[in-house]
Amino acid sequence: MQKRRTFIKKTGLLLGGISILPQYAFRPKFQTQKLGVALVGLGGYSRGQLAPALQLTEHCELRGIVTGSPEKIPVWQKKYGIPDKNVYNYGNMDGIANNPDIDVIYIVLPTGLHSEYAIKAANTGKHVWCEKPMAKTAVECQAIIDACNKNKVKLSIGYRMQHEPNTQKIIEWSKTKPFGELEKLRADIGWRTTNPPDTWRMDAELGGGLIYDVGVYCINALRYTSGMEPLAVTGRIENSRPEIFKEVAEVTNFEFDFPEGIRASGKTTAAETVNILRSDCAKGWYELSPFQAYNGVQGKASDGTLLNTYIENQQARQMDDDALAILQNRPVMVPGKEGMKDIVIVEAINASAKTGKTIKLS
Ligand code: NAD
Repeated sequence: MQKRRTFIKKTGLLLGGISILPQYAFRPKFQTQKLGVALVGLGGYSRGQLAPALQLTEHCELRGIVTGSPEKIPVWQKKYGIPDKNVYNYGNMDGIANNPDIDVIYIVLPTGLHSEYAIKAANTGKHVWCEKPMAKTAVECQAIIDACNKNKVKLSIGYRMQHEPNTQKIIEWSKTKPFGELEKLRADIGWRTTNPPDTWRMDAELGGGLIYDVGVYCINALRYTSGMEPLAVTGRIENSRPEIFKEVAEVTNFEFDFPEGIRASGKTTAAETVNILRSDCAKGWYELSPFQAYNGVQGKASDGTLLNTYIENQQARQMDDDALAILQNRPVMVPGKEGMKDIVIVEAINASAKTGKTIKLS
């Protein structure tokens, strides 16, 4: 500390008590190193978003892949310069335990496989990043958390919105309440799907269905916008096209009873295009629309405030935040218990839709 003060004084960079040094000027040496990330599952999200984002990150980089598709290996090796020693399949990924190039294993598989592979990843002793939705059931979420705790590794869930500045403003407003007390809240997301491809997203066993895929964005948003946890949840499913939506719902509507009599509603839908988070308060309103989009979240408030801060790449921001939490050994922004809370609610919505009863949450 003494040395640092002396240095600051000598270089004259502390002006009137205000440091003009960039915040990273005094990072310990290890914090200038990049963490090595291995992506598990090289599907659409890894290929289209995460791997390109890992070319932009400051604190981590793509160093390894785990895939069950041999034909993808040369393509990824050529594009990202990944050496043979950092290429794994689902059967031998345990070997990452002995690979010093890899610090983080990122699970980007169908949701129904997250728990199996996140637990395998934790057992290698490497840190674990797991895509949203965290898993299919709360029991699976807890098993991932337990495995990470047992192995003393950090666990982050890939909720990129919580790293996004306009969303962070909404989260701040849940505490500062510039528009007064919350009265009503809504989070709807969906798009009109005419001919959905027959992939795992239509397969209940693998964790398909919009209530998982994008419902967790709505549920998470209702929780971070209110700053509260629901006391009870009601769900209702609509299916006007059972010939298409055989295993998963076309539309899921849900209502939350928050403390103090505040009610929130939401829906995930394959029947219409919608993407809005709207908060009505005693002295005004604010909304983000879209509240979940790769290319920019935008919003406005009743006093004319615009929420339109643009960041180049949400995934790069998320992974850098998560890498810094590891490098600086501080809590991650979106831990496992946050992902699990949403899955508890997804299960309650589905149980309510099945029984027609409101489900109380403890
Ligand atoms: P995808 O279908 O494009 O890719 C899935 C990958 O898993 C493929 O490479 C496939 O080969 C592999 N796989 C391994 N075992 C499989 C099996 N038994 N069945 C099917 N595929 C199998 O899916 P995706 O869009 O890349 O989604 C992967 C994960 O990422 C999901 O959990 C999804 O929710 C999440 N995701 C998150 C975001 C985000 O914005 N955070 C966006 C898209 C997807």
